[in-house]
Amino acid sequence: IRMVLIGPPGAGKGTQAPNLKERFCACHLATGDMLRSQVAKKTKLGLEAKKIMDQGGLVSDEIMVNMIKHELSTNPECSSGFILDGFPRTIPQAEKLDQMLVAQNRPLEKAVELKIDDELLVSRITGRLVHPSSGRSYHKVFNPPKVSMKDDVTGEDLVQRSDDNADALKKRLGAYHEQTEPIVSFYKKTGIWSGVDASQPPKTVWSDILKCLG
Ligand code: ADP
Ligand code: ADP
Ligand code: ADP
Repeated sequence: IRMVLIGPPGAGKGTQAPNLKERFCACHLATGDMLRSQVAKKTKLGLEAKKIMDQGGLVSDEIMVNMIKHELSTNPECSSGFILDGFPRTIPQAEKLDQMLVAQNRPLEKAVELKIDDELLVSRITGRLVHPSSGRSYHKVFNPPKVSMKDDVTGEDLVQRSDDNADALKKRLGAYHEQTEPIVSFYKKTGIWSGVDASQPPKTVWSDILKCLG
């Protein structure tokens, strides 16, 4: 499958993407995780991106498009398909992605939007815990790890993201509505859009996603 997952911060993209990766043997590219790995390595890009991410802003289209281009062409897991999570986030990113994929004769097949009201996202975001090296996410209340603050798979520490606070979330939601939501109409026009009610429990969201793809 070749698809993108669209949705505001906390909608459940990172929760559902691993299901898709396993079901379709595709790669899962999460641009937020890729950026956070650059931050952890203190690369030049990481140091610049951290400031923007902590303020709830968006990293430049040029950087993000190059990052996805590089990963799609060098990651062998992506040759059988891909799930993009957190990309595209702007109309220029969506246009560049389209051009690139059409030129490679592997156009996008599906854009699934995880739809949810802003009010529900505050508790999801402020309770989120992540395992940095895998990107796995948990929730203090809704999906607690088996052992407190430890990843179920590796036993390593879970952390709270520095941008997962109410203040940065407000700005991220602003950026989502202004800059990312327009890509929904972009994909509606090309006929590959489907919407799912992301306020439901994770299992129901997953079965609804499968219905869209079926
Ligand atoms: P995104 O990648 O879209 O930002 P995540 O998948 O990381 O969102 O989910 C955000 C938080 O909400 C996480 O703590 C996750 O455990 C929790 N979560 C995800 N899906 C649901 C759901 N359907 N119901 C309740 N909580 C959820
Ligand atoms: P969430 O899980 O809350 O949706 P992500 O982990 O996808 O957030 O992204 C975290 C931050 O990384 C974003 O707030 C933004 O600053 C930056 N970022 C990630 N992907 C992109 C992108 N495609 N374009 C611009 N900035 C991005
Ligand atoms: P790893 O060692 O984990 O493979 P890399 O240093 O290769 O990490 O980079 C991870 C991701 O960040 C890759 O997709 C790469 O294209 C992207 N990246 C690294 N540096 C830059 C940069 N200066 N501009 C844009 N993308 C970059």
